[in-house]
Amino acid sequence: MHSIISIAVMALPMVFCQCSFSQSPKEKVSLSMNNASSKNKIYSRTDKSKVQLTDAEWKDILPHNVYYIARQKGTERPWSSKYENFDETGTYYCAACGNALFRSDAKFESSCGWPSFFEPIAKGSIIYAPDHSAGMERTEVMCGRCKAHLGHVFDDGPKPTGLRYCINGVVLDFDKSK
Ligand SMILES: [Zn+2]
Repeated sequence: MHSIISIAVMALPMVFCQCSFSQSPKEKVSLSMNNASSKNKIYSRTDKSKVQLTDAEWKDILPHNVYYIARQKGTERPWSSKYENFDETGTYYCAACGNALFRSDAKFESSCGWPSFFEPIAKGSIIYAPDHSAGMERTEVMCGRCKAHLGHVFDDGPKPTGLRYCINGVVLDFDKSK
């Protein structure tokens, strides 16, 4: 009798654990590799002008998973991005506004669980801010056009920069080189 009770007690947290895990939101993989909805009128691959929208406006035009990362500074689950093991040649854009962010030739295999790059496509394409959250000292990286949260940059990357831009794949769009 005792052992049955103890097994039941031991099994209980596992049941809860599995439940909460199966309920975690799953990122939808878009086949078009472009997360922009038709509502998103500011999305542009050519317009370089800065974008400033209210939180409510962003919430209205962005898919839920993009809004969560870009505007609420969320983090996607590691190993969940379609761009983690992805080596097509082309350009990565901000999924919120279409700003060019990284070239595929700056992408490297970091094995950290998120798509990683050693340099942005251009100096102004990314902006930086100190991030003291989660008990860590990190440097946040944001889109230079719309200030979408992208991820963080660390100084343990490969040559030539020694940097590792650790980026949430949800906030990236990709286009193959023509
Ligand atoms: Zn952007």
